Amino acid sequence: MSDKKPVRHLLGLSGGKDSAALAIYLRDKVPDMEYFFADTGAELPETLAFVDLMADYLGKEIIRLNAGRDFDYYLKLHSNYLPSAQQRWCTINLKLKPFEQFVGEDAVISYVGIRADEPQREGYISTKPNITTCFPFKDDGLVKADILRILDDSGVGLPKYYEWRSRSGCYFCFYQRKIEWVGLYENHPEAFEKAKQFEKFDEKTGKRYTWSQGESLDELIARKEEIKARSVLDSKQKKSKNLMDIVFDEDDDGGCLICMK
Ligand code: SF4
Repeated sequence: MSDKKPVRHLLGLSGGKDSAALAIYLRDKVPDMEYFFADTGAELPETLAFVDLMADYLGKEIIRLNAGRDFDYYLKLHSNYLPSAQQRWCTINLKLKPFEQFVGEDAVISYVGIRADEPQREGYISTKPNITTCFPFKDDGLVKADILRILDDSGVGLPKYYEWRSRSGCYFCFYQRKIEWVGLYENHPEAFEKAKQFEKFDEKTGKRYTWSQGESLDELIARKEEIKARSVLDSKQKKSKNLMDIVFDEDDDGGCLICMK
């Protein structure tokens, strides 16, 4: 008898809609699936609640991975430079490394929720030879409307943060649009305050390190009515019905897959 370990099937839940729909879609097709969630320690309560709801729905544990160190530790390691789309050290340290540690040297199939209507996305393609990545939605031609139907039919629905934000991920995520920062301010003022504390002004160089491009969070909030009005206008131009529609419609721009899909 061979003592070779069987291939492991892994599905990472980000707390977002696509990975949740994928878990529902594959629940009966891949019964020995292992589910995991890489918790950065800076997750929104709505995200954590949604992951718990998914564990109930799947009837299985969702293994919590974490880096063992928090964001502050890595921030100091990066000389207090905030992460950005170009310098995504947060994803590498808080999400990817814990994932690769979890995999170890085992042969793994990793299931990723990229849809057929987003061919521009590539996902996390591991360079580790023992990880094979697979895209069931892409392969089966499922698009956004299918994902919404899967979530609706299952009774799981959408994560609550979709009422004001288009993605899961850290409360301070730099991928947030200005209207989402306003949403954080209004829904989680204490998290907004914490995010503010990470911004810096270097008196020597005059350089500012802000989460949102071109302005500090204080400046952004000082013009929150203008930002809201702009969003409503955008939503009218896009013929959406309300603010949530436009937040939700724009969930496909940028963002990092392992955090937000
Ligand atoms: S959610 Fe945003 S801030 Fe958090 S790890 Fe991912 S990219 Fe970085």
